[in-house]
Amino acid sequence: MDEFIKLLNQDYELVQYRIKDKAVIFNIQSSKKELTCPFCGSKSIWVHSIYQREIQDLPIQDRQVILLVDTRKMFCKNPDCLHKTFAEIHPFAAPRAKKTERLAKNIIHTSTQLSSLNASGLLKGENITACKSSICSLLKKMPAIVDKSSVTKVCVDDFALRKRFSYGTAMVDLGSHRIIDLIPSRETSDVAKWPAAFPNIQVVSRDGAAIYSSAADSHPDAVQANDRFHLIKGLSEAINKSKLQSFVEGILKDLKAIKNGIIYSYNNGLAEGSVNKIKVIKRIMYGRNSFDLLKAKVLFHELFHVEFN
Ligand SMILES: [Zn+2]
Repeated sequence: MDEFIKLLNQDYELVQYRIKDKAVIFNIQSSKKELTCPFCGSKSIWVHSIYQREIQDLPIQDRQVILLVDTRKMFCKNPDCLHKTFAEIHPFAAPRAKKTERLAKNIIHTSTQLSSLNASGLLKGENITACKSSICSLLKKMPAIVDKSSVTKVCVDDFALRKRFSYGTAMVDLGSHRIIDLIPSRETSDVAKWPAAFPNIQVVSRDGAAIYSSAADSHPDAVQANDRFHLIKGLSEAINKSKLQSFVEGILKDLKAIKNGIIYSYNNGLAEGSVNKIKVIKRIMYGRNSFDLLKAKVLFHELFHVEFN
């Protein structure tokens, strides 16, 4: 059994285990004698007290797995440290988390394909206890999964949060083809501020909408490209409706971006495909959830799509 625990982490050992109803309970502890104070970085071997944390892990043999982890409260004897004591940190679970990180990842993966309520039911069948609200909070607490500095070429497009009432904007990485960010607005001022969080943007491709001309405001050197698809679509609509005059006026206002759209081969088809994905995920969620949750589900969906397929 000790080997099982070593698979979780090399530094942990089994104290004892028992089977209770449909669960296997492992009491484990770290074999490290010396721990590092998270506040000042100094080492400590002085134990103040020991308590047990109950952390759920991936099921085995069709049974739920509960880890009872001996957790030391340590003295920090560094006179310059602001804390007298600190709690042992376990590398496989976030502080105060009730689930191991590998279980949390499994739950999140399941819940991006389903509503949180249905995910909870499916997980129960796999001997994983995760109620709807704990799935929602896992999703919302997710770490930032996009390395914003690696993003250089993006396209943006809007999507309906509530059709005819409210809209959001999606940003897609033209390199990885992944949705990398969503904001709950398509207002010029919000869209203009947004790409500043991505320090190395060089290209912003967008549809004909003038509101998105502000999307590159924070990166004055970035190339703005008005994608060809929308240009040609706009032209054919204008011809059909005999509105060529206003079409030409629109082009003159946005001439540079339109030229770039013709020179470079960026197009917003990717953003449009992404908007469809958002629609599907929104439908799965029954439209009852918050924007934060939608964003978490979409970004995780994209992450797992790349990782697992
Ligand atoms: Zn300290």
